[in-house]
Amino acid sequence: MKQYEKPLPRPTPWSKPFWDGCKRHELLIQKCKECRRLVFYPKKICSHCLSPSLEWVKASGRGTVYSYTVVYSYQPTEFSEDVPYVIAIINLQEGVRMMSNIVDCPLETLKCDMEVEVVFDAVTAEVTLPKFKPIA
Ligand SMILES: [Zn+2]
Repeated sequence: MKQYEKPLPRPTPWSKPFWDGCKRHELLIQKCKECRRLVFYPKKICSHCLSPSLEWVKASGRGTVYSYTVVYSYQPTEFSEDVPYVIAIINLQEGVRMMSNIVDCPLETLKCDMEVEVVFDAVTAEVTLPKFKPIA
């Protein structure tokens, strides 16, 4: 297997459960125990009511494409070999938005509001990245 040389997430104490969930192929988001609203990305306190009482809940992994861009060229980076690739904002069914990549999708079929589901890409032994693909 080729060495993965792209930037990797560096989990914080409050985001580590998210990354651990990805390794288990579970997409986790935080839920506030006080106001019961969902919070993403991982935070130490609720972004709605500032409560520190957050718990982790399993998301469906399904959503729709809110917006996207196709990267065709760029300054040379670790991602240069991947062009063209898609960066998208996903509206998860649960009501939070997540930035990720769309994979396994011909570019000519890519469109806003298309239904997608999470897939997990184990890029190293330690890190699994959540990405999204069209729902067949
Ligand atoms: Zn709250």
